[in-house]
Amino acid sequence: MTLHSRDKRYIVNTYNRLPIEIVKAKGSYIYDIDGEKYLDTFMGISVNNLGHNPDYIVDAIKNQLDKYSHVSNYFANEPATKLAELLVENSCAHQVFFTNSGTEATEAALKLVKKYGKMQGKKIILSANKSFHGRTTGSLALTGQAKYQDSFRPLIEDIYHFDYNDIKSLESVVNEDTLGVFIELVQGEGGVTAVTKEFINRLVELRKQYGFLIIADEIQTGLGRAGDLFAYEAYDFKPDLICLAKSLGGGLPLGGLLVSENLSEVFQPGDHGTTFGGNPVSCAGGVAVLEKLLEPKFLDEIKIKGELIKSSLRKLQEKHPSKIKEIRCKGLMIGIELFEEGITLRNKALKEENLLINITSKNVIRLLPSLEITNEEIQTFIEKLDNVMS
Ligand SMILES: *Cc1c(COP(=O)(O)O)cnc(C)c1O
Repeated sequence: MTLHSRDKRYIVNTYNRLPIEIVKAKGSYIYDIDGEKYLDTFMGISVNNLGHNPDYIVDAIKNQLDKYSHVSNYFANEPATKLAELLVENSCAHQVFFTNSGTEATEAALKLVKKYGKMQGKKIILSANKSFHGRTTGSLALTGQAKYQDSFRPLIEDIYHFDYNDIKSLESVVNEDTLGVFIELVQGEGGVTAVTKEFINRLVELRKQYGFLIIADEIQTGLGRAGDLFAYEAYDFKPDLICLAKSLGGGLPLGGLLVSENLSEVFQPGDHGTTFGGNPVSCAGGVAVLEKLLEPKFLDEIKIKGELIKSSLRKLQEKHPSKIKEIRCKGLMIGIELFEEGITLRNKALKEENLLINITSKNVIRLLPSLEITNEEIQTFIEKLDNVMS
């Protein structure tokens, strides 16, 4: 039996697999069993942000594995402590709670917000339509997309949605009872749309007026992806809580909730916990990630590469005006909105050009290339996409 037939037989059918059998991945490329080489713009859905298996991350992980791989949260561990220190010293946060995934970071935020709400006598939590905050039942209630929610109702109560970037819609749901607002600075799943400065400014004014919390879901946008270490830095505000995951563990499962100083006493021992959270090996990967991102000029380079991809895509749009409707970019988070559904294009790119592109919201190509993508690889990518569209 082939890998794909065994996969179909033995693994619960929740994912649509692409038809290649991977044997190796390095940098911007994936290699299959037949010796084919593919240019990858999925990057593990922004998990492998620094390219596949960079040596310094592999070394950091191996190094920690040789010492100890798990000790439980009865003990402090050096990699988790070091990673928390790096995150706190380079953000507006005061402390970190480590999780194993994005949805768990969202759950931790939800629990913290709910407990805070008990003290404040408030309970209404808001998030945006078309948002994505995870798939466990709590975070799913925040994920403002009926296609993910409908089979699982009733979800948790007291959560309402507003239209992203629509100030009137936000104003119509915010009031004295508003406890917290979850928001992505760039909606990833929702089609790669950045929040506007006006919207954030209004949200921050309303926070001041009503005293609610702003929870930034930076699971996808954080850690350099949107061009800054954290995407909130491009706006004029500080979130009260920040959710991280995806690339945080350098390819290993790891998430985190960054907590501001005024909320650092809300969770007390026993209020929340996870067996694997802060796993030393994942956190050793995370320390290597943070140290790379904090190298001088590293983040500036991301913006420059983002601009290069954007201008190259604009030229491609001029060449294929009936195919490309709009190009949206924030750092190296890039959306190409098409006039039609993207699945045929995706399959053609894979078969004919050995190019791996992801489609979200049916008609948006979502590119999450390596933050270390070279100018030459950008050129190759543009040529391949041009060929597919021609
Ligand atoms: C991926 C993602 C999540 C969920 O993370 P998981 O690790 O899959 O649970 C939540 N929010 C955003 C913005 C994401 O991109």
